[in-house]
Amino acid sequence: MFNHQCPKCGRTFTTQAPVQSVQCPYCQNVFQPMNQQQQAYGPQQAYGPAQPGIFDEGPSGKSRGVAALLAFFLGGFGAHYFYVNKVPAGIICLILTIITCGLWSIILLIQTFLFFTMSQEDFERKYVYSQSTFPIF
Ligand SMILES: [Zn+2]
Repeated sequence: MFNHQCPKCGRTFTTQAPVQSVQCPYCQNVFQPMNQQQQAYGPQQAYGPAQPGIFDEGPSGKSRGVAALLAFFLGGFGAHYFYVNKVPAGIICLILTIITCGLWSIILLIQTFLFFTMSQEDFERKYVYSQSTFPIF
């Protein structure tokens, strides 16, 4: 079965075999079918709205990919908090690194993982636009 969508009336119908040109049974419009090869192997995958890449800046101008790398390599200094303009959080983070003798870095590893896996929208909501002085998770 080959699915066709009429470009004139927008309705869909099927033919048994691939064809060079096809006539719409609804409005009699004759047109050249598109993508017959793909349809022969199943419906084309439907893509949602394009997700921003991990290193693409979101509306806030901050990228979660950059935040993740900062958390991983310089998280002990609070670099990822300074990056999202949470200066007090960056200072708290630095103090926690010192008073926990680095144990705090376990949390930083989890944060790195979260930055990589969460959506850009969640990232901005939780870390950039958050009212929290010190957003952890
Ligand atoms: Zn039609």
